Amino acid sequence: MTASPLLEVSGLKMHFDAGRKKAVKAVDGVSFHIQRGETFGLVGESGCGKSTLGRVILRLYDPTAGSVSYEGTDIHRAAPDQRSVLFRKLQMIFQDPYASLNPRLTVREIIMEPMEIHNLYNTRKARLMMADELLEAVGLHPDFGSRYPHEFSGGQRQRIGIARALSLHPEFIVADEPISALDVSVQAQVVNLLKRLQKEKGLTFLFIAHDLSMVKHISDRIGVMYLGRMMEITESAALYKEPLHPYTKALLSSIPIPDPLLEDKRERIILKGELPSPVNPPSGCVFRTRCPEAMELCGKVTPELEEVKTGRFVACHLYKKES
Ligand code: SF4
Repeated sequence: MTASPLLEVSGLKMHFDAGRKKAVKAVDGVSFHIQRGETFGLVGESGCGKSTLGRVILRLYDPTAGSVSYEGTDIHRAAPDQRSVLFRKLQMIFQDPYASLNPRLTVREIIMEPMEIHNLYNTRKARLMMADELLEAVGLHPDFGSRYPHEFSGGQRQRIGIARALSLHPEFIVADEPISALDVSVQAQVVNLLKRLQKEKGLTFLFIAHDLSMVKHISDRIGVMYLGRMMEITESAALYKEPLHPYTKALLSSIPIPDPLLEDKRERIILKGELPSPVNPPSGCVFRTRCPEAMELCGKVTPELEEVKTGRFVACHLYKKES
């Protein structure tokens, strides 16, 4: 028997007013779930709605329609006492660690700040000890605690951001492009750190990225978004081995292969045109204006996300549900 999901997103829509009775449909009817201890990779070009989705999950926005449940509680309709518990349990790691760290505070103060706001631990001494413990947990020497953010490299600053996110002992972390701003050599170190912390602290991650190479080594399952809608959800290994949706295939074909012989031989799918405006998305399948396999039906009927093989969900008319 499968356990109930930790997080369940159902029919979620997040539309922003664009004036003149128009709306930016940043998220437009997305459903998926995340199991406890899982890392769900959420991928798509910038402007596809993935960061907005992450922010709705963290209650930074109230959705236009649909719901987000955490352990069975609708997080946008939770009672005030439940809200502060949820706030502690759900935390975020940002893309740009420097912009998210207060330059006037020392690293130790940055990590202690959320504990003070939420009255965690009775004494300052206990908070100081916890801050040092968190610095060590993210691979930084506690002596660094008295320094300021500008004294650190990008990778070290992201470690500080991770320590701060951990300061309230969260269960679920939205990591919004946490490695995109880092040098390639540092990206793997941060991914490995997140994997280790997940194991040690039993964390669950929503890991947002703009390309498939970044989520490959951390995700158990991956959701591919395009223009506010989910195109494909599948287990990570199956997605890299046999992508089904034409958009997933295009994203995958754009990842460079380190072997020059294989790189020369492989076929690259170049998507034509730009991402259409979410104010006026194409009719039918939103991907149809750039899809190399589009057919007449695609402009008329919106394909629903359906399980086309066991554990493989695809929104595309090319696939029929297996009976
Ligand atoms: Fe392409 Fe049509 Fe499938 Fe959309 S539904 S991805 S346009 S083939």
